Order: sequence, then structure tokens, then C-alpha cells
Amino acid sequence: MNIIVLNSGSNGNAVFVESPRSGAAVLLDCGISRRQIEVRLKVHGRYLQNVKGLFITHEHADHVRGVPVTAKMYRMPTYLTEATYRGMRVNRPHKGHRFIRIGEAVKVEDITVEAFSKSHDAHDPVFFLVTIGELRFLYVTDLGEHNQEVARLLGEVDAALIESNYDEHMLETGPYPEHLKERIRAAHGHLSNLQAMELVEKHCNGRLQTLILGHLSENNNTPEIVQREVEGVLARRPDFRPRIVIASRYEVGDVVSITG
Ligand SMILES: [Zn+2]
Ligand SMILES: [Zn+2]
Repeated sequence: MNIIVLNSGSNGNAVFVESPRSGAAVLLDCGISRRQIEVRLKVHGRYLQNVKGLFITHEHADHVRGVPVTAKMYRMPTYLTEATYRGMRVNRPHKGHRFIRIGEAVKVEDITVEAFSKSHDAHDPVFFLVTIGELRFLYVTDLGEHNQEVARLLGEVDAALIESNYDEHMLETGPYPEHLKERIRAAHGHLSNLQAMELVEKHCNGRLQTLILGHLSENNNTPEIVQREVEGVLARRPDFRPRIVIASRYEVGDVVSITG
């Protein structure tokens, strides 16, 4: 399985997941423009023509901004829950959307995508488990607080992208108005570095080959802080040595290959 994070953050999210065997791919979220997706895929010799479906986690603009143009131009189906679709005032796919249900496994060529509920301030937000053959990738971002399923699945996957949104101290002392700070910290907001690290430390195990930390806040976090925090976790968990990737808010990441 190959994973390319095209962008990760409140300015836009999109993750390309490809089956090396069939060449088919899916896109998890589509929050950057069709043009930017094309440009960033091309860096790695990949093309939107091979993407067989868009899977949308929730209706916030940073996850759906590119949906209408991308889905229409490439005639690709957009998979989302019905409540997410209804909650979209703009950025709805014009046609060719398919409703997914929680717990339903959707198969696109040899790629299976399953949606799970999560806590976030949207109509029916979900996170995804992508399975290709024996390999499993968990994509969980925009998470106010974790639930049992996130915790369980973190121990059963080969790769995971998990949100590490903000540093508590930076948020506390930063420029945001109090109501916005509260919104971010709320059970329907975002996961702090501390919350993300706690999840990783408690629930991940030797199966995890790659840990991607993503959706870092521009104002309330830095990649250096996240790197330091994750090194702390690794120091306490010598049994567990995943490759660590900190997803960028600005540029396409490397091709992350997960093998059996
Ligand atoms: Zn977001
Ligand atoms: Zn969101």
C-alpha cells in the first residue's frame, strides 16, 4: 500500500492511498483544489485518472473544497454519509455521489474503505479504515476526543494518520479569542498533542510501521514540538519503532510504502 499526504491542516486535507497491485487509488478528503491535487500527485508520477473514489470525512471546507470540480472533471464517485451531504451548503458533488453507512465496507477495485463515527462539530463526521490485502491504514483527523473504536483500531493497523492539532500551552497563551480556544479544546473540537501521544502510547503496538501526525495548527503548534513529543513516547516504548512522518500544511509528502 502506498500513501501520499497531499496536504494536511485547516487549510486543506487530502490523502492519496494506492494499491500497488492494481494501480487503483482512493482519495481520503478533497480539501485542496483539483489543480493542486494534480500538481502534487504529478511530483510522484501519480494521476487523478487512477483515483476511483473520493471518500469524505465531514463537510468542513478544509475537507471538501475540491470535491465539485474534481468529481465532475474525472467522473469519480464521491462517498459520504447522507447527513454529511445534507450538511454541505456548498461544495456538494454535482452528481455521482453515493451514501455510505457507518460500519459498511465499501469496495473500490481491490481497496476496501470502512467508515466509523467520531466526535467533531459536524453533522455526521467519520474516520476511515482502508484495507488493501492484509494491510490496513487508519485515517483519523478532526477528532474532539477518541472513542473505543479509534483506540482498538490503532492496535490493529500497519499505518495510521492521527491528528495532533495543538500544543496546550501555545493555545492557552496564544492570540485566539476565548470562545475559539474553547471550541478547539471541546469534545467536538480537535485533538491536542498530549491527547494524540497518549493514544499512541497506550494503544499502538509493534504492528504499526508508520505513524503520520497531521492536521497541525498553524498558530498553536509546530512540527518541532510534535517531533519532540513523539520522541518522548518512543523513549517510553522501546518495543515500538514506527517510521514517524509529520504531515505538512504546505507541501506534498513523500510516498509512504507499507509492506506485508
Ligand atoms: Zn479539518
Ligand atoms: Zn473539521
